[in-house]
Amino acid sequence: MRTGRRTAPRSPSGGSGQSPLYDPRCMAHGRRTILMVEDEPSITTPLSEALEREGFESTVARTAEEGISLAGDVRPDLVLLDVMLPDGSGYDVCRELRRDSDVPIIMLTARGEETDRVVGLEVGADDYVVKPFSARELVARIRAVLRRSRTAEPAAADEAIEIGDVRLDPTRHEVTRAGDLVDLTRKEFDVLRLLMHNAGAVVSREQLIEDVWDVNWFGPTKTLDVHVSALRKKLGDDPAAPRYLHTVRGVGFRFAAPTELSPDRSG
Ligand code: CA
Repeated sequence: MRTGRRTAPRSPSGGSGQSPLYDPRCMAHGRRTILMVEDEPSITTPLSEALEREGFESTVARTAEEGISLAGDVRPDLVLLDVMLPDGSGYDVCRELRRDSDVPIIMLTARGEETDRVVGLEVGADDYVVKPFSARELVARIRAVLRRSRTAEPAAADEAIEIGDVRLDPTRHEVTRAGDLVDLTRKEFDVLRLLMHNAGAVVSREQLIEDVWDVNWFGPTKTLDVHVSALRKKLGDDPAAPRYLHTVRGVGFRFAAPTELSPDRSG
């Protein structure tokens, strides 16, 4: 096992209240590895240097194919993924990685159009950075995403939740409806989990954004709606008269309470 530099982490409590540069939890397992899937040396060279300086290991893959293979070999703690790769699209790489991994993924793209953000989210990316960006900005994003993915996982109870014929099993990361597997992206799963966990009560848009993405996410409003409508579709919910996933206008969303879905209530 490789050991990191044994520099004592700066105390996060003695700072200015901003997020600590040295998160002691990040240091606990030595240096974290960032895989960059990016073909432009003008980006990877300075970024590798910045990451090393900030205490990360970095590895570079220059093609989609190499990215997928390195992700399997290196088991990175986070992946930076360019959208335009010489042999394919970063979105496809993202989809491929998501088939068997929850590794945090930040998409790097030159385009700032909303459709790109939405596609990035739909394929399971955690965050999105528009080129050109500063190394400093990106490192801050990396730290935020790493913090979030760490706290998100073991936080809530691991017990399966069953409401009506929808069953969500956090340990197996699995959702079924009437016994049939529902294929969800990780973010869709997280949204559904939070809503089912609070079944019967409204969860505000802000809370959903904060828990599932973070407050710095670009265009959060649209993003959340995209996920909710995808969830409705996958659960077979009618957007005009949903059984499970209700919109509470101006506030947020609500998953039906178990009593609302009992057999004697459904016509
Ligand atoms: Ca590129």
